[in-house]
Amino acid sequence: MQIAMIGTGYVGLVSGACFSEFGFNVTCVDKNENKISQLKSNKMPIYEPGLDVLVKKNQDAGRLSFTTDLNHTVADADVVFIAVGTPTRRGDGHADLSYVFDAAEEIAEYISGYTVIVTKSTVPVGTGKKIFKIIQQKRSDLKFDVASNPEFLREGSAINDFMRPDRVVVGVMGEEAKNVLEKVYSPLNLIETPIQFTDLETAELIKYAANAFLAVKISYINQIADLCEKVGADVHDVAKGMGLDKRIGAKFLHPGPGFGGSCFPKDTIALVKTAEQVGGRISIVEEVVSYNQERKLSMAQRIISRLKTGIKNKKVSILGLAFKPETDDMRDSPALEIISELYSKGANIIAYDPAAMNEAKSFFQDKVVFAEDSENCIRGADVCVIITEWNEFRAISASKFSDLMNGNVVVDLRNIYSPDEMRGAGLNYSSIGRV
Ligand code: NAD
Repeated sequence: MQIAMIGTGYVGLVSGACFSEFGFNVTCVDKNENKISQLKSNKMPIYEPGLDVLVKKNQDAGRLSFTTDLNHTVADADVVFIAVGTPTRRGDGHADLSYVFDAAEEIAEYISGYTVIVTKSTVPVGTGKKIFKIIQQKRSDLKFDVASNPEFLREGSAINDFMRPDRVVVGVMGEEAKNVLEKVYSPLNLIETPIQFTDLETAELIKYAANAFLAVKISYINQIADLCEKVGADVHDVAKGMGLDKRIGAKFLHPGPGFGGSCFPKDTIALVKTAEQVGGRISIVEEVVSYNQERKLSMAQRIISRLKTGIKNKKVSILGLAFKPETDDMRDSPALEIISELYSKGANIIAYDPAAMNEAKSFFQDKVVFAEDSENCIRGADVCVIITEWNEFRAISASKFSDLMNGNVVVDLRNIYSPDEMRGAGLNYSSIGRV
């Protein structure tokens, strides 16, 4: 089985490396020459734990290769995965499918022999059929199939998620493509992974429905956290009491500054747009989209309100920039909104993140000074804000904060410290959903 993976971003690179680990021959294609030349010499363009080892192992074994040459790669492939970006389209909120359709046009030129073209990118309902038409128009001579195989991996634990998924969803148009994809995922039979086969439209919608549901769950606990602060309850105990109910489950009940990342923000908006397009509404998700946006700004207000003399010219230390730990992905990170708001009010921002500072530099330019470690970030700060819950921040003691800081305000947007210990060290400490 020869697999081509178009796009070597978080999804394409991890999926390609994992398929080669399953034993298939995989060629990953990207337009970005710099990325491809880095990957050829085992340098990772993204931070993802364990990925460097997996890529090197499979490149050394000759099962995994990288190229910018789409035409030969696609011509040799039995299965071509499309794993390019589907960001929010400027202006109207729909998913921007230009990368997907451009890839489909290119693939159509070069496939030879029966080939299954599979979308791994998150694409709105109906996209698979459009890809089918694009290829059919160019290649009426050829037998091919289009399938949908949305990806559910999470950045930070992407390899494990791919190798040990809760389920695999595959939308197909017929038996032949189903047989091919059964083979592709047959290594997961050993661990009895459920493989759900559906039609194209259903598979496409499953991905959006799942992501939007998780976004609703996060927003729900964030609103409960706000209520906890008003009534003097502890959100962690509330979440525990809820999560022990098996119908609810404990995951995604951790309060914070609002969801970010490369998926939930754009996928919730795209789902709302899909519903509108067919004359329907998903009002719960509409509400979540606007609440989550407001929440990020309200976090900035929360920080400002902790300083009696205002934030102007204050030294604000930010611990954590990535949208979550164990990734360098800054796309739609809450840090972007929060820092921009504080900066616009005249704060002097110094920030530290264990992995995302290179990425962050392109977002913030000279708005932010970057510290070389957490101690240097905290030193002399009037206020310290925890935005991403990296493990290394958990180990910073309360006395370290009070020794290093100039002021004493600590705003913990991830609840990683004990309120008693922090206050015991003389800090003016606040967190989310607990008093
Ligand atoms: P990304 O932006 O990190 O990577 C996309 C890559 O595709 C880039 O390297 C780009 O150069 C390349 N590319 C674009 N057009 C190309 C073409 N015609 N030929 C070759 N290469 C091309 O994107 P990502 O985060 O990996 O996401 C990809 C898709 O997977 C999106 O639809 C996303 O919603 C979905 N997804 C992402 C995650 C995640 O955690 N990032 C999880 C599940 C699903």
